[in-house]
Amino acid sequence: MKESILHYIWQYKLFTQRGLTTTDGDSIEIIDIGKLNADAGPDFFNAKVKIGDTVWAGNVEIHTLASDWNRHNHQIDKSYNTVILHVVKKSDTSIFRADGEKIPQLELQYAADIEQNYEALINDRKWIPCADKIADVPSIFIQSWKNALLTERVVQKTEHIQALLSENNQLWEDAFYVSLARSFGFNTNSQTFEMLAKSLPLSILGKHKNDLFQVEALLFGQAGLLLQAENDLYQRSLAKEYTFLKSKYGLTPIDGSLWKLLRLRPDNFPHVRIAQFAAIIHSSSKLFSKIIENPDIEYLMQLMKCESSEYWKTHYLFGETSNSKSKKLGKSSIYSLIINTVVPLVFCYASRKGNDELKEKALMLLEKIPAERNSIITAWQNIGMEISSAYDSQAFLQLKKMYCDDKKCLRCRIGHKVLTIKKLEARI
Ligand code: SF4
Repeated sequence: MKESILHYIWQYKLFTQRGLTTTDGDSIEIIDIGKLNADAGPDFFNAKVKIGDTVWAGNVEIHTLASDWNRHNHQIDKSYNTVILHVVKKSDTSIFRADGEKIPQLELQYAADIEQNYEALINDRKWIPCADKIADVPSIFIQSWKNALLTERVVQKTEHIQALLSENNQLWEDAFYVSLARSFGFNTNSQTFEMLAKSLPLSILGKHKNDLFQVEALLFGQAGLLLQAENDLYQRSLAKEYTFLKSKYGLTPIDGSLWKLLRLRPDNFPHVRIAQFAAIIHSSSKLFSKIIENPDIEYLMQLMKCESSEYWKTHYLFGETSNSKSKKLGKSSIYSLIINTVVPLVFCYASRKGNDELKEKALMLLEKIPAERNSIITAWQNIGMEISSAYDSQAFLQLKKMYCDDKKCLRCRIGHKVLTIKKLEARI
């Protein structure tokens, strides 16, 4: 059997608790199961148990067999000297600490169906293991789990922002600029877009922000897309301007061959995205401060819906004319930028400032955005999950990626209900 199921049974107190005795026959009462330790060392910290008349405080180690204690060499490991109780499925030997003290042991007794349900669950080959059972889980539990998953996802996204802040002397506008650029890469070119932003400090771009032509010259030049400019008048003009600015600021462009066009729709070509990014830089200053002051969906849509320069109305690439079409950022692109950049950044800022109201506002932005449409979201909907906004879709994407795919059902609140629902119903 898997040791993780014993951890789970201990953590959620799913074991028989009346009339407990240690394997030596002493009465034992579990006062506090302790806190699960995800790092090295004993499995649960700061537990409290009463054995006989004595209350002990310390750590708990859990194994399938008592002899696993020796197999893992805990008997010679001083970090296990704090263990007050060894919890096992079967006690096949006595065990001792490195200091020679014998450790009390408890054999866990629990309903057989927990283990059977768990085995059935993780061996299920459906799209997700609990696909057939999730409909039985009360929606109130799913809702509260969704809230936790959503926060977990946003916090994970803030890790990259924390790194950007460190690289940018804790300057929020600069970190936002790089993060926004990365999101403009829309997966395929996100890394290259980030490299572009890092190669061109916001302080330099800011000096020319009132002149869209110069902003484009700097961005396309640093993107390495102005090196072969012989066929197109506009591209040649940008290249000329860039040559001057490059030498003025001592800039070094990135490798233009890093940009990927393969399998991209023309609207997603990096040239179009760079032109749109240039338009945003040109049309507003102190973007991050403005967003923090007014994290409102309508305002954000307005802020990001800016028109690229005239040339791009008839181009997707330099030198190739196309039918005239506005290259304003579309709604779904703006939604993606808000989900991936604005919400994590505002949340990260609010967390650092201890501003819970702003944190809440950041998350609530997702409720105003339609759910993403992709095969994962459709599959969740097909098994009855209600997904009506990006708040829901982001939570369910997190659940699939971080829990279902690795079968971490024991750490999932839906999994907890699926494994114990029969037990609860039986009690009622
Ligand atoms: S992790 Fe949770 S939602 Fe995913 S399959 Fe397991 S129990 Fe179901």
